Amino acid sequence: MRRVGKNSFTEIYFAGCNPSFVETSDGYVMIDSPQQPIDAVRWRERMEDKAPIRYLINTEPHGDHISGNAYFPNVMVVGQVKLQECFERYLYAFGTLEEKRERFKETDPDSVWLVGHPDYPASNPPTLTFTDTLTLHVGNHTFNILHMPGHTAPQTSVHVPEEGIVFTGDNVFYKCRTWLQECDPWEWLEALKSIEALDVETIIPGHGDPCTKAYLKEQGQIVENWVGYIERFVDRGLTPDEILKEPLEVTKQDPYPIGQRLFIHDERLTGMIVHNLHQRILEKKQHATA
Ligand SMILES: [Zn+2]
Repeated sequence: MRRVGKNSFTEIYFAGCNPSFVETSDGYVMIDSPQQPIDAVRWRERMEDKAPIRYLINTEPHGDHISGNAYFPNVMVVGQVKLQECFERYLYAFGTLEEKRERFKETDPDSVWLVGHPDYPASNPPTLTFTDTLTLHVGNHTFNILHMPGHTAPQTSVHVPEEGIVFTGDNVFYKCRTWLQECDPWEWLEALKSIEALDVETIIPGHGDPCTKAYLKEQGQIVENWVGYIERFVDRGLTPDEILKEPLEVTKQDPYPIGQRLFIHDERLTGMIVHNLHQRILEKKQHATA
């Protein structure tokens, strides 16, 4: 757990994303939830011992940001309207609860007994939604919740002016592999400009260490590198499977290693990025000539 502002904390050492919270004068506001059930329940018990948790804001629908929600059963979850729509589909993207329990026997035995535990719902989706922006005032803090599509369609940043902080979710991967497996890369570049325009000192990325706006240029460059790289294959008329047979220069597009115990997805991720960007680029070209 690291203090990243006067009243702001983030956890960069869990398996999963960087779940974070702000301690206001009227309780806690969380940004994303710990992915592993045992981490989530420990967090909740420690926090609730001190003060109530007022809100849990999700930045995106990927499992590493939302699957811990279930362990905060009485907390109001906030999310962009598209995140509410796709919540269940993403939650079960990697299988049923039963399959999850089986997986945890290998990967996280301490969490096994908490999967499907009767004290917790299977799912805890957003009930407070917004389209473009939502501002919450909790205690002496302001939470400007901003729709910034890019890494995912419902992607959301949480700007807390009193702390000089923005929590970006996975629109920023600080010095670990950037996941472009379902992004709209051009919206992502716009989102980075919107983050740049905020009056903040600290950025809490979805993965990797907290950083500053100085890193945004590099993050944008990685997105641009990938688009330019795949575009050259698209121009040659290659299909995604044909591209994946080429000797791919992944580290030339993105020099960083895959982060936070995500290494099991390393090779699969490249395949997903190629498929997504190939389709996005093709659609854009067809649109331009239509
Ligand atoms: Zn993530």
